[in-house]
Amino acid sequence: MPAPYTGGCQCGAFRFEISAEPVTAYVCHCVACQKQSGSAFGMAIMVPSDAITVLKGEAKTYTKTAASGRESDCNFCPECGNRIFHRGKDAPMASVKTGLLDDASGIEPAAHLWTSQAHDWVTIPDDVLQYETQPEGGMGPVIEAYKG
Ligand SMILES: [Zn+2]
Ligand SMILES: [Zn+2]
Repeated sequence: MPAPYTGGCQCGAFRFEISAEPVTAYVCHCVACQKQSGSAFGMAIMVPSDAITVLKGEAKTYTKTAASGRESDCNFCPECGNRIFHRGKDAPMASVKTGLLDDASGIEPAAHLWTSQAHDWVTIPDDVLQYETQPEGGMGPVIEAYKG
C-alpha cells in the first residue's frame, strides 16, 4: 500500500498520518520491547519524523534512557495507553508501531534484532537479517534490505 499511511491507537483518541514510505520495518525481541508491547516482541516501521502528522488527540511522552545512555521520547495515548511512536532526541527518524496502521499489508520486517533475547518458540525466517543484539554501526543494512 503506498503512502500516505493512516493509523491510530486502540481507543481511537489518537490518530496520525504518515506521508512518506517507511524506510524500513523490523522486529525487536529485546526484553524492553517485550515489556513495552506486553507480548513476545515489538514490530515497528522507521519513517522520517517530519512525515508524521497528528490528525487527532495529543500523545503523552515518556522519556526512556537506553543502555547506551541515549534518550528517546516514547509517545503514547493518554486514554488507552497504546504506545504510538518513538523518537530519539534530535533524531531525524521515528519508529512507529506497525500494529497501529489501518493497513499494514505489504510491510514485512527486513530484520530481527536482539534475537539473543527472543522467546524459545519464535522461528525467524532464514531470508531476513538477524542480529543477536543491535546492528553494529547502525540501521544502514536494515534500511538497505527493506523491500516494502
Ligand atoms: Zn487511545
Ligand atoms: Zn527492542
